[in-house]
Order: sequence, then C-alpha cells, then structure tokens
Amino acid sequence: MKEVAGSESLLPVLTPEQEAELLRDRQHDHFHDECGVFGIHGHPEAANITYLGLYALQHRGQESCGIVSSTGREHYVHRSMGLVADVFNEAILERLPGRYAIGHVRYSTAGGSELRNAQPFVATTDGGGVALAHNGNLVNAMTIRRELEGRGAIFSTTADSEVIVQLLARSREQSLEERLIDALSRVKGAFSLVMLTQDALIAARDPYGFRPLSLGRLDGGWVAASETCALDLIGATFERDLDPGEVVVIRRGRLRTLRPFTPVPNERFCIFEHIYFARPDSNLNRHNVYAFRKDLGRVLAREHPVSADCVVPVLDSGNTAALGYAEESGIPYEQAMIRNHYVRRTFIEPAQSIRHFGVKVKHNAVRGLLQGKRVVLVDDSIVRGTTLTKLVTMLRSSGAREVHVRISSPPTTGPCHYGIDTPTREELIAAQKTVEEIRQHIGADSIGYLSVEGLRKAAEGLKGGFCDACFSGEYPVPVDEEDVPPQLSLFREVEVPKNQ
Ligand code: SF4
Repeated sequence: MKEVAGSESLLPVLTPEQEAELLRDRQHDHFHDECGVFGIHGHPEAANITYLGLYALQHRGQESCGIVSSTGREHYVHRSMGLVADVFNEAILERLPGRYAIGHVRYSTAGGSELRNAQPFVATTDGGGVALAHNGNLVNAMTIRRELEGRGAIFSTTADSEVIVQLLARSREQSLEERLIDALSRVKGAFSLVMLTQDALIAARDPYGFRPLSLGRLDGGWVAASETCALDLIGATFERDLDPGEVVVIRRGRLRTLRPFTPVPNERFCIFEHIYFARPDSNLNRHNVYAFRKDLGRVLAREHPVSADCVVPVLDSGNTAALGYAEESGIPYEQAMIRNHYVRRTFIEPAQSIRHFGVKVKHNAVRGLLQGKRVVLVDDSIVRGTTLTKLVTMLRSSGAREVHVRISSPPTTGPCHYGIDTPTREELIAAQKTVEEIRQHIGADSIGYLSVEGLRKAAEGLKGGFCDACFSGEYPVPVDEEDVPPQLSLFREVEVPKNQ
C-alpha cells in the first residue's frame, strides 16, 4: 500500500474555525447528504475517471474525499479533507496509477469529521490488500465494534464502515469476495459499497436497497456509481442498477453476480433520495428525479391550494416542486429570490454584525417583483425551520403582502438511522411542534405539507418499495437507539456563532 506523497498531511484535522464554518453550512434547513461512492475496473485512466465521477457526486458529501487505485499488484491512496476539486490535482492523480480505482466523497454520518475517517479505507489482509468505500449507516456497528474490541481488535477510525473492514480481515473464508460477503452478512442497516482488491472491483447493496448504486460501461471497462449523473459526466453508458442484496464481482473484464443475503419482503429505497438528496438529472431505479419532484409539487398543489399571485421556490431545494405547484395551480412561477452561487465557507463580516447575515449572503429577494404580492413559497422539507423563518421575513420586508409556505414532503418527525445526517428528534421542529405552531414559528400566513398518503401515492409510479420512516415512523430495520453511532457530533461539540 503506497501513500501518495503529501496525502494525509495537507489538511490534518479541521481547526475549530473550520469546524465552526462547516457547522454554519449545516445550519441550512435541510437534512444532509451522506456519502457517494464510485468505482472503475479496466480503464487506463482509472484515477482520472474516478476523480470526475466524484466531482459529479460532490453534492453527496463535502467534508472529505479520497481515491484508491490499483495496478494489480499494489494499491495507491490519496485522501484529504475538502472538496474534490481542491483535494486533487494533475500531479496527485498521476501518482495514482493502474487500471482499477475506487473513490468516496464523505459527509460524516457516523463518526466524526476528521481525516482518519475519510474513505476509501485501506487494509492489508493475509489475502492481499483491500480498499473499501461505503455509503449508508450500520445500525449494529457499535455492538460489533464492542465485540471485536473485546477480542483485541484495534480500530483506527470512529466510522461505522470500519466494522466491515475489521470483520473482513477476521473472516475465515477463502477469497476476499467471500470474506466481504461473510462480513456483510453480519451487519445490519444500509450499505451501498464498492471494494477494490488488487485486481477485482466488487460492488454490493444491502437487502433493503436503502442507497442507490448503478452500473455502467466505459471503453470496455465497468463503472459503479452512487448516481447516474456520475456516469453521464464521464460518458459511460448506463447498464443497470444493482438489485437490493446483490453483489457483483468484476475481474478480468467479466462480471459475476451473487445474491448471498437472506432476502427481505420488500425493497426499502430511501424516498428522501428522490425528494432532496439526489441530483435532479440522476435516475434512481430508472426514474428521473426531476420528474418525480415536479409530481410532488403537483400533488402538493392539489392537497393545499391557495389564492396567490406567484409561486416562489426556495433556491435550489424547492425549484422543481415549485414548478410542479405552479403548473398544477396555474399561478405564475417567479424566481423572486436570487441565490449567490459563489458563497464559500468563509466570509469577512463587518465589525458591526449584520442581522441575518448568514442567510442574506446566500439569498436576496427581488423587491420589484414582490411589492403587494401574495406569495406561495415552496421548499422540499423543513428540519429546524431556521432558514425558512428568515426567508419569510425577507419576503415580507421586500414587499410581499402574504406568504404561504408549501412543503413537498410530509413533516419530518423522526431521525434517519440509515445513512442520512439528521438532527435528533429534539431538534426536528415537526417532532416538537404541531403544524399550526410551525406556521406561527416561521411567521407564514398559511402552511401546507404534503401528506404521507400523497407521497406514497406519488411514489406508486416508481419501481420498488420505499423507506419513509423519517415521516411515518415505520423503520424497516429495527433500531436500538443506544446502539446507533452518534450522528452529528459536530452539532454537539461546536458552539454556534451568535450572529448566524
Ligand atoms: Fe431516507 Fe428517511 Fe428512510 Fe432515512 S429514514 S432512509 S432519510 S426515508
């Protein structure tokens, strides 16, 4: 295993200031994407293609990223905190040789935000070197970790994904793919992962199929990616989605399919991938994300009609649902808020702090459009209500006569245990307040959430079954809350700057 020079020393661990900035970003009123994985087998520019794949998957995780390549004899690794475009450059990619590679972008769900948790993980086993990149959360990771530590295992990260590597290293099975399957048979929860041995790419999805994973072809080689937008960027052709519970092993250009896990009654694909996480240009289970979001907006308009002069999206999360709402209701769509796309993580704020600076630096209202207007403000979800409260205030102070908030998902009343970065139940506004109390809290004239029934009806057109536990409370894999790795350690460790 070779570390690419400078690899892990570029940005060792986030400074307190960096963590505070990161936290400010997290205060945006949404659940957060979890991780993205990418793998390629049999391409002369494997690392470069992986870099591009990760670039397309950047929305799934912005804290850290990494690539491991293989020449067939040796693995080469580069991981760092930061965005793909900042972490990699030509010189670094040149030092990742070989025709095989996997990559990962991470937004910490389980385990803290630090370099040692950056993936892919690499390990040397008596069966050879392996690298692993995982998307999802394992609900029994703490139990297994305690058990392994009791038998002398030493963990080098705090991430739940390392449990898979530790189990694999201890497995008595012969081949590395058999060992991986053995390890995966012991974990519960969500995994869509790619693993690189010295000469094989292995891709696997848990039996519920919580997280997406698609297969494609490029120049005779094979590609696996969390979303099809990554296949589009590199010019790969979409082959198919991995089935829930499927493991594929790609070696010497040939793909072998295994279905080693006990089947479950129903697929439970995360409906939030369709509502918010995935890029609108991706297809999930062969269904376009943009089209589904627009459908949700239409259903929302039927469930919660209102007399108004314009439909305004919260940028960018409410764009597509707002279009659907406008089309169904016949109310004109207006982009009455403008978003600054060049906001970085650091701002130099004047000494005398500006009220609501954090939200204003990202969004501004178009006053001329709003004067005296009755506005329908559409977003896809409310987590804490912080951003929406500020946006409603901004619309009113820009002349809007009425502001009617419409949300294209049901109230988010429960946390996710399957790989999405969510606050605790205490921090979820819909778990603590009634819908009327939320309306009062954000200062809207009216509020309307999509119903769980409306969401399920809209999802009937999609292939497979869904998890909607954060709305319905129906968790498909039982969770012992005490055994779930703590999510969002940053929220507890870092103080929120007062003016944000
Ligand atoms: Fe997705 Fe919510 Fe289910 Fe988590 S609980 S997998 S966010 S639908």
